[in-house]
Amino acid sequence: MGLDTLTIARAAEMLKSGQITSVELTKAVLERIEAVEGRVKAFVTLCPDLALKMAHEADKKIAKGEAGPLTGIPIAVKDLFCTRGLPTTCSSKILEGFVPPYDAHVIEKIVEAGAVIVGKTNMDEFAMGSTTEHSAFFPTKNPWDLSRIPGGSSGGSAAAVAADMCLAALGTDTGGSIRQPASHCSVVGLKPTYGRVSRYGMVAFASSLDQAGPLTKTVEDAAILLQVIAGHDKRDSTCINEPVPDYSAALAGDIKGLTIGLPKEFFAVDGVDPEVALAVENAIETLRSMGAKTVEVELPRLRHAIAAYYIIAPAEASSNLARYDGVRYGLSVRDGSSLLEMFCNSRSAGFGPEVQRRILIGTYALSAGYYDAYFGKAGQVRTLLVQDFARAFSKCDVLASPVAPTPAFALNEKVDNPLTMYLADIFTIAANLAGICGISVPCGFGKGGLPIGLQIMGSHFGEPSILKVAHAFERNTDFAAKRPDL
Ligand code: GLN
Repeated sequence: MGLDTLTIARAAEMLKSGQITSVELTKAVLERIEAVEGRVKAFVTLCPDLALKMAHEADKKIAKGEAGPLTGIPIAVKDLFCTRGLPTTCSSKILEGFVPPYDAHVIEKIVEAGAVIVGKTNMDEFAMGSTTEHSAFFPTKNPWDLSRIPGGSSGGSAAAVAADMCLAALGTDTGGSIRQPASHCSVVGLKPTYGRVSRYGMVAFASSLDQAGPLTKTVEDAAILLQVIAGHDKRDSTCINEPVPDYSAALAGDIKGLTIGLPKEFFAVDGVDPEVALAVENAIETLRSMGAKTVEVELPRLRHAIAAYYIIAPAEASSNLARYDGVRYGLSVRDGSSLLEMFCNSRSAGFGPEVQRRILIGTYALSAGYYDAYFGKAGQVRTLLVQDFARAFSKCDVLASPVAPTPAFALNEKVDNPLTMYLADIFTIAANLAGICGISVPCGFGKGGLPIGLQIMGSHFGEPSILKVAHAFERNTDFAAKRPDL
């Protein structure tokens, strides 16, 4: 097993004790990228020179005894975070040539903590999608089966972690984009509570739903990475000014007496693959055998969640994406004869079909005469869903459910059918609408060895609880230890 297979926790120990250097570790990761990236295609931009420079710096820091929690650890970041001096594309043609003059808050945080950045990962354009097939460049392949999707939109980040092309990665989750690819690639993915992590410098998709979070090989690593990125930042007015708990400390202890709510609507969803249902049932049984209690809870408004999300997210996106006009950023098509033509031509050439579809849906839902019927109604549904979750959490500590209805499907299988694709988000989007936190942890493998994830959701700022349950589960099973054979 090469150094590229290490977890953050283990690598940090080995770095601090002088068993390895960051340059050795980073070289091992770069060699791994060299060996498998041609097949997986997880990255939009690689920065080996920068990585080695950062690794050298990290080694100096370690030698001086100044190591932070991520010092010398190779990390990949979704190409939606602004990175100073490194292209940031959001996998869109419209951001062609855009090199941000500043770092996103989470990038500042990981750099401050000593991380080595290896590259920017592929995604669905502007994070709209569940497969990376909406990337303007190329789809990423699932390291467990190269003919299948890795999930999305943070599919590049999940695949890079699963294929050991980094020790951990950052992604974003607007409706499941961290948890669902984590589930499909058998890694851990955590979506923090809305407001826990600053969105400053994160290219906006749907501002009231977007959150950045970690994709890692273990739950322990998710706790370490979340610790670094969480916390107040005055540049994001929705980022809460509350102390950040010690997430690693929350992992300790057992889960005896803890109550896990099983939302009955989640277990009655149509079209769930029997293998997924079985793996999740077995996982719940495992949690019971470890001393957790389970109780059935109700989320009666869950049935409206997809409809509400696919109004709210496109509405916010249509507004956020208005800034790409061919003047201020990236691509500019200047062959028209008027300013309006330049806007139209730049946006038509720069945005892919899924992004255009969402701009149309969003603009329609926000237009005079339809606003009350669509956007207003969706907002009301959202409030009711928040109340449903509050009621459920009055009866339990965390909720459990599947992450995705099926294991990873084949590339091209659903790309031409947006509605089927949207319906597959049923297990993840409710957490974004309600602003609560959720984690995906590997819980099984189906036919052909395709990974299956278990979702644990927590109430607002319930990260310590979901980390604790996921960690206990991970230690009692060996799913997370399995690696794809690439
Ligand atoms: N699949 C969902 C969508 O297409 C979620 C995407 C996300 O979380 N960024 O909107």
